[in-house]
Amino acid sequence: MTVDVVTIFPAMIAQPLAAGVLGRAIDRGTLDVKVRDLRDFTTDRHRVVDDVPYGGGPGMVLKPEPLFRALDAIEGERGRPLTVVLTSPQGRRFTQAEAQRLSEIEHLVLLCGRYEGIDERVRERVSEEISIGDYVLSGGELPALVILDAVARLVPGVVGDEQSVAEDSFSRGLLDFPQYTRPAEVATGGSAGRAGPAVLKVPDVLMSGNHGDIRRWRKREAVSRTLERRPDLLAGAELDEEEQEILRELKGAKDGRD
Ligand code: SAM
Repeated sequence: MTVDVVTIFPAMIAQPLAAGVLGRAIDRGTLDVKVRDLRDFTTDRHRVVDDVPYGGGPGMVLKPEPLFRALDAIEGERGRPLTVVLTSPQGRRFTQAEAQRLSEIEHLVLLCGRYEGIDERVRERVSEEISIGDYVLSGGELPALVILDAVARLVPGVVGDEQSVAEDSFSRGLLDFPQYTRPAEVATGGSAGRAGPAVLKVPDVLMSGNHGDIRRWRKREAVSRTLERRPDLLAGAELDEEEQEILRELKGAKDGRD
């Protein structure tokens, strides 16, 4: 997958991309990510990318010409078609399903806004606007990284174990089951007056070596967590028969308690 990120703060993108799963995928060439400094597409001595808003009011607005030139340069270098995503609190809400859809696109351009946002006319060259949530950040760099990370881990070959991606929360509309690692027992620590057990154990089933029981336990935990924490997800979840049966049971038990 090829991704171009246009920003006035290239270091904010480049540094996080050097680490972890994405960094390794870039080194291997599975991901081709270029960070473009918007100031490189200015023509004045001071490399100005912003200006005051027409009509007055506070703040500054990203000028259209550098953004248009940046898109022209990317198109010239990479060719069409460009899927240009503008990060914006006014965009469609980003979800795992959106990440899956974008991961199937060969070439994405992510535009990072700043200040009061971009000149409205740039939207002529934008394919879609994406928001990472109903809050306002100071710039599009963190949203671009969030989108890029969530999308890239769905690109085949980026995460070593594709089974782990398939089991992640939201991938089928369920939250992930709880995970434990060694040691089998751990002291809780904290102050002596603390409520709760002093030693925490890993559920016996996970150490039983019985793969059928482990699989069923994990399914039950995933369904029960989703029912408890995010029941809204269940309407669109793709549940197999066993999971549907577990859900009916858990709902029955819950109705009995209410
Ligand atoms: N005045 C704009 C508004 O109210 O819609 C907000 C501008 S914000 C301070 C600057 C930039 O940060 C935006 O252009 C966008 O690129 C990015 N941004 C802020 N919050 C975002 C969010 N929730 N999702 C995606 N991008 C966001």
